[in-house]
Amino acid sequence: SKMRVGLLFGGRSGEHEVSIVSARSIAKALKSEQNAQKYEVLPFYIQKDGFWQGGETAQQVLDGEVPQVGEEEGKYANPKSRWQFPPEADSVDVWFPILHGPNGEDGTVQGLLSLMQVPFVGSGVLGSAVGMDKIAMKTAFAQAGLPQVKYQTVSRAQIWSNPCVFPKLCDEIEADLGYPCFVKPANLGSSVGIAKVRSRTQLEAALDSAASYDRRIIVEAGVVAREVECAVLGNDNPQASAVGEITYKSDFYDYETKYTEGKADLIIPANIPAAVAAQIQDMAVKAFLAVDAAGLARVDFFYVESTGEVLINEINTLPGFTSTSMYPQLWGYSGVPFAELADKLIQAALERYKP
Ligand code: ADP
Ligand code: MG
Ligand code: MG
Repeated sequence: SKMRVGLLFGGRSGEHEVSIVSARSIAKALKSEQNAQKYEVLPFYIQKDGFWQGGETAQQVLDGEVPQVGEEEGKYANPKSRWQFPPEADSVDVWFPILHGPNGEDGTVQGLLSLMQVPFVGSGVLGSAVGMDKIAMKTAFAQAGLPQVKYQTVSRAQIWSNPCVFPKLCDEIEADLGYPCFVKPANLGSSVGIAKVRSRTQLEAALDSAASYDRRIIVEAGVVAREVECAVLGNDNPQASAVGEITYKSDFYDYETKYTEGKADLIIPANIPAAVAAQIQDMAVKAFLAVDAAGLARVDFFYVESTGEVLINEINTLPGFTSTSMYPQLWGYSGVPFAELADKLIQAALERYKP
């Protein structure tokens, strides 16, 4: 009989809409000729308020009808009522969460699925949480000997609770990192809340703003570099794809550039020396293992062409998965077409699962 795949999408994050598009692509792949005999898709839509919808409603969202999120907002004011799972959840054989950002890519949903004792695609609690928190992630990368930009960590308390400490903090950042630097909330994605700052005034404003997103904040020295990405697939012996490059005309790869059609281009393969590509693939696998990722991850780098240096930027344990996203495109180029990729990810989830 067919294996029932619980496709989990939407979610309580700024990447809610992207998640729906990613899930649509995966559903299509699982219903394609080569997978249809093997899998049956059960859609589960997590509304913006966190409430789970299954069956018909989830299918309608997946099919592109406007999500009825607004109407439901406030209706489930008690957060506990979010965890009334749709009845179809009982019959899921393997979960395929395709939720980006907080409350989905960060280990929270992975903890829930672990408690359900059902296999699921992608990283577990540890890999997801470490991959999501840029401070924990950088600590793990440093321990693995992976080169990175210079950075400082800051807490919300340092920014908000102690007006005497704040000027000193800014002095230190200026002296240590200089301008431009990047101020980032530690636990977001899609460039949400990230500011590139070039002056003291901008630095102060950016720290204040980042503190409204997260208790944990990171400030990084800005580098002038090309942005290259590598896809990783597998569990204990993960494989790296070809390397791709992102190009754009804006100041940096911000939210608008990421999600406005035509503002960024994916170049596959990246036009870089073969030795640099090999180094990136090696670093991508090391980064994957360093945070204990599983199944899939996209690892992003800065290639400083003038010096030949490669710096790791970050790992994304549930990368964008629309048909035009970098992750599936890189595997497509590397000989794993979309439908086969979806199949391999489910098989990796089953392989990893230990009840
Ligand atoms: P997210 O997880 O939201 O994608 P990133 O850390 O990848 O956050 O930052 C988003 C973008 O900001 C990068 O793709 C890059 O364009 C720019 N950026 C971030 N950090 C730096 C840096 N230290 N130097 C230069 N550009 C950076
Ligand atoms: Mg990210
Ligand atoms: Mg990024």
